[in-house]
Amino acid sequence: MHIPHYNFVFDPKDLTLEDEFSFNCYKGIVCFNKCCYDVKLVLSPYDLLRLKKNLKLTTSEFVEKYGEFYIGEVTQLPVISINMNPHDYSCPFLAEPEGCRVYPDRPSACRIYPLARYFAENEKGEKLELYKIIRETHCKGHYENRPIKVKDYLEEQGLYVYHHFNDLWGEVVLKRQKFSHIPLTGDILDLIYLLAYDLEELRDEIKSDSLPYFLHEDLNLSDEELLEKSLKIIKDEILTEENLNW
Ligand code: SF4
Ligand code: SF4
Repeated sequence: MHIPHYNFVFDPKDLTLEDEFSFNCYKGIVCFNKCCYDVKLVLSPYDLLRLKKNLKLTTSEFVEKYGEFYIGEVTQLPVISINMNPHDYSCPFLAEPEGCRVYPDRPSACRIYPLARYFAENEKGEKLELYKIIRETHCKGHYENRPIKVKDYLEEQGLYVYHHFNDLWGEVVLKRQKFSHIPLTGDILDLIYLLAYDLEELRDEIKSDSLPYFLHEDLNLSDEELLEKSLKIIKDEILTEENLNW
């Protein structure tokens, strides 16, 4: 069944980490799996890392089987998203009636739902982390009497590690937008793709000493450590005005 996703509203109230909302989602709820159709699932580099490990696929195998690769209109950076199944618009990881078959490694967008995270500044110029509740007609989890603080919901959904890596990627996007007037060359786009999304290939390049930003010792880093280092290199060494203008 195709459930269109245009019937949603944001609650006007901003929630902090300490605020409570009422929500529950569990196998057996009347709307179980209804949110796994017709979803625009854009993957962050960490989302992709977790999904690839779960499915035991390389980046190119993953993209070929499930994804789409393009240059993001907003980010102007390489983007990988998941293609829904063409016959019923279901997510390719949905195994009805059981549910999500990659659940322990599902993307951050699936984890954070029904919340949306954003940042604002208070009158003192301090950065505030805020959340809004998304309400869609098909989602009945809002009618469940389970009050939970935002910070506890994030913990329960395993989101803190995703926030860490997604914030690093967010800094890359901001840096790119700072120099959005300078078009990226194909070589730079390839390099960003390699560092952000293709750690297997990156390890091969490090082995062959063909990248200036890494040392042989970096091969001992875990994938998470290597991704963290790579995202910082993209922000601090690749997306610099000097490098982009050379
Ligand atoms: S990844 Fe899992 S939770 Fe997310 S839309 Fe697909 S099936 Fe649903
Ligand atoms: S409660 Fe909402 S999030 Fe959970 S299965 Fe139902 S529609 Fe999806």
